Amino acid sequence: MSNIEYQFSEDFAREMDKKDPLAGFRNEFLFPQINGNPAIYFCGNSLGLQPKNTKAYIDKELQNWSELAVDGHFEGEDAWMYIRQKSKPALAEIVGAHTHEVVAMNNLTSNLHFLLVSFFQPKGKRNKIICEAGAFPSDQYALESQVKFHGLNPDEVIVELAPRQGEHTLRTEDIINKIEEVGEELALVMMGGIQYYSGQLFDMKSITEAAHKIDAYCGFDLAHAMGNAPLSLHDWNVDFATWCSYKYLNSGPGNISGIFVHERFADNADLPRFAGWWGHDEGQRFLMEKGFIPMHGADGWQVANSNVLALAAHQASLDLFQKAGIKNLRKKSEILTGYLEFLIEQISGESGVLEIITPRSPSERGCQLSLLIHKGGKAVFDSWYGKGVVGDWRNPNVIRLAPTPMYNSFTDVYQFGRILEQSLAEFA
Ligand SMILES: *Cc1c(COP(=O)(O)O)cnc(C)c1O
Repeated sequence: MSNIEYQFSEDFAREMDKKDPLAGFRNEFLFPQINGNPAIYFCGNSLGLQPKNTKAYIDKELQNWSELAVDGHFEGEDAWMYIRQKSKPALAEIVGAHTHEVVAMNNLTSNLHFLLVSFFQPKGKRNKIICEAGAFPSDQYALESQVKFHGLNPDEVIVELAPRQGEHTLRTEDIINKIEEVGEELALVMMGGIQYYSGQLFDMKSITEAAHKIDAYCGFDLAHAMGNAPLSLHDWNVDFATWCSYKYLNSGPGNISGIFVHERFADNADLPRFAGWWGHDEGQRFLMEKGFIPMHGADGWQVANSNVLALAAHQASLDLFQKAGIKNLRKKSEILTGYLEFLIEQISGESGVLEIITPRSPSERGCQLSLLIHKGGKAVFDSWYGKGVVGDWRNPNVIRLAPTPMYNSFTDVYQFGRILEQSLAEFA
């Protein structure tokens, strides 16, 4: 990969697209139109595009509902009682887990709460949580409210990791030093797998190891890592994780989340949890009896019955991931984002308008590049949008661009380069 000589030329981009074994997947998606052309859509980090087959998957469940009504729970090839099983092989492959360690359910923040009930158990002095400073607001609110739920003060208990002065990302050594420093007062490390603002991919394996060394739990919010970066949650010994499926997983606005719980907790009925009937032993669920018996593995954290229409849209996307292969996607992603990085450097290098704050090493990032805007502010971003580029703006001054390997092309990135060149003439 490092031997690719990137060029700012349309011929080069077209040649790269021709050689791209995943190029055909672009045609499986619906692109919004801007000025009569498909958008240069770099916003899969916020909401992934709609697969063309999503409608058919949902229609099929609508038809099952119309024909079977209540019998759909137990009849048909995809009886709703067991429908969650269908997504497990793809989810397990994407996060690097066994199928019994994952399940699709609820929404991300809800799952974070359910998992924190189990994995944040402050006891005496051991009551602190380490997270990254500037974490996604929902995560901050979840942590703060969990801390208060235990009668503790967030200001005393939540320890935030901030980049060093003049730096934009965290150094792994600083994260690990902090974990060791908090030591036996540490109950939990809970941070993003990829930081939503900077695009930094954390060394989850080393962080988990450091947390475990001092007997703290370690979990990750994978909103920006899911379907984006390689994950080996099982082998890394991560205790728990959750994600959303509407970003890189393209499963539709607000659609279903998923959780990972390591198999060492699979049959641990002593962990505190907020229970519901769908987490209860499946064989006995309809006996409607007292006394909760958790299911084996992640399924035991389910609370309510499966969102069947949501799972249909989810499956439409997962089937594409299975076809493309997460490893192939990652291979393309490193080259595609490398091309975007090359063009930004080459075109804006000297202008002082933009600064890439995402780590430069592909092993420390996913597909997203975050650009700090030094001149022109939000007007720079708006001028791109007018020319067909959909990225996203995050206050106070960052533009995030996420070329996704599933549906973006090298030509998309090249065309963005041309637009960037024009806008620099205005703002530099
Ligand atoms: C997108 C995102 C969320 C969104 O939470 P929902 O519960 O799906 O609304 C939460 N945390 C992070 C880090 C995110 O990137």
